[in-house]
Amino acid sequence: MDRRAILRLAVGIPFLGVGGLVRPGQAEHLVKPVAAGGAVRPPALRSPRLVMIDPGHGGKDPGAIGAGGTYEKDVTLDLAKELALQLRKTQGLSAGLTREDDHFLELGERVDVAREAKADLFLSLHADSAPNANARGLSAYTLSEKASDAFSQALADKENYADRLGLDLKHTKPVVADILMDLATRHTQAASLAARQGIVRGAGRDLRLLENPMRSANFVVLKAPDIPSVLVETGFLSNRQDEAVLRDPAQRRRIAGILARELATLLASPTFA
Ligand SMILES: [Zn+2]
Repeated sequence: MDRRAILRLAVGIPFLGVGGLVRPGQAEHLVKPVAAGGAVRPPALRSPRLVMIDPGHGGKDPGAIGAGGTYEKDVTLDLAKELALQLRKTQGLSAGLTREDDHFLELGERVDVAREAKADLFLSLHADSAPNANARGLSAYTLSEKASDAFSQALADKENYADRLGLDLKHTKPVVADILMDLATRHTQAASLAARQGIVRGAGRDLRLLENPMRSANFVVLKAPDIPSVLVETGFLSNRQDEAVLRDPAQRRRIAGILARELATLLASPTFA
């Protein structure tokens, strides 16, 4: 039997396609060549917006450790997975993770993952410790050479220091090393500020906020020049009440749900069109 005869036979027999049972008439297009000059289906106007979620720390870098023994790297990973799950259920949105398990990633590698995936937004999740044990609540950071205050500067220094743990690993790709030298472009900066504002204002309706919750500092992980980037401190493990909230899976789901809601609004806004 020649190839054409096999194809005719295939067209005549119902078979199971990806979407289930395909009838003969429907199957024909599978073997018909596309007519030259025929109508081509236009591409979708807008592909889903991709949020790259970055669970802070991991592997040999535990991040902050709460008085109750909670590791920041575990809180951030669980929150990130929950947020990804919720974003993927939202129409028009998709989500990726810079790490899906407990392993160490350099800050530059986190940026690499987001750039390679062509993410529309980079969101780094943290739950650090604060010098003042009374400090609690959510806050969000954008990149700035000059920190908004001494506390933000200290926090960024501590986060950036974690990279020294990676000196024994492969070096960051040269292209990213160059990029890290650059300041973010104007558009990226404007979109990052809009994202920080949207997240803080929106989440603040349901979650406790830190004083002056919109902050900035020189975080290496926020230096992708072409991807709006925000670092969210969901709370502080140095505060007992925040730790109690962050170690509770139901509370983490709630926080992820609130963040997903605000990200959906944000990514539908003209800034991210
Ligand atoms: Zn952290």
